[in-house]
Amino acid sequence: MSETILAAEPTIRLAAFLSVLVTMALWEVAAPRRRRDIPRVIRWTNNVALVVLDTVILRLTFPIVAVGLAVLAEERGWGLFNNIEAPFWVAIVVSMLLLDLAIYLQHVMFHAVPALWRLHRMHHADLDFDATTGLRFHPVEILISMGIKLAVVAALGPPAVAVLLFEVILNATALFNHANIDLPRPVDQVVRLFVVTPDMHRVHHSTEPRETNSNFGFNIPWWDRLLGTYVAQPAKGHKAMEIGLGQFRTRRDLWLDRMLVQPLSGPARGGALDTSTTKDPLE
Ligand SMILES: [Zn+2]
Ligand SMILES: [Zn+2]
Repeated sequence: MSETILAAEPTIRLAAFLSVLVTMALWEVAAPRRRRDIPRVIRWTNNVALVVLDTVILRLTFPIVAVGLAVLAEERGWGLFNNIEAPFWVAIVVSMLLLDLAIYLQHVMFHAVPALWRLHRMHHADLDFDATTGLRFHPVEILISMGIKLAVVAALGPPAVAVLLFEVILNATALFNHANIDLPRPVDQVVRLFVVTPDMHRVHHSTEPRETNSNFGFNIPWWDRLLGTYVAQPAKGHKAMEIGLGQFRTRRDLWLDRMLVQPLSGPARGGALDTSTTKDPLE
């Protein structure tokens, strides 16, 4: 079964990715949440070019990706679930939950460590918020994330199908929760109990540092609520809030070449441990 999963992986991932992306793009046209500030052609061209570049760099750098490592771990008996007797469905559910927690913690770390924030802030520098924002990650961040994910898979020994499911779902939810779509408020209230919604994740893309450093979940919303990083709504409201970072605000900053050098330009302001941007409540 593992070999079948491994052989089908690229097709499953690409088909899921393209169908969710097209669905979100159509939904954004039919029911947009916010008015666009930037012409779609600039952002879409550069954000999609970045995904292609990220994918090529990732494939050239890593001889094996997460699903492949899960298959190898199964064969060699590496990791927790390859060494204990657990029902298959328990292994799948627990593996998916722990992988999601790892991604959440990694996201918090990328906001807290100044050098990592320089890489991750490129995701936040997008001046509009739509499905392609969910694809905007610096190639070096992608490589570090893959390293962390491989370490988690090696330690956990999850079923290969759990890793594949996790990655396909995460990819789909990232497109969904960055989409500029208008979910009716009562629907949002229910959906965000189970999965991060666009209104929940948009708070994370606010220029207000307190809001930037909240709502770190990409998939399951529970970690933010459990661990105290949940902010329900942006202070200025979804229509009036400012998207992006204070630092990179020109249209030229949205081009691929500028995105790639952003980690090196200017100070590492606005990260979770940067006290210069938060006012002392006693003052
Ligand atoms: Zn972030
Ligand atoms: Zn985001």
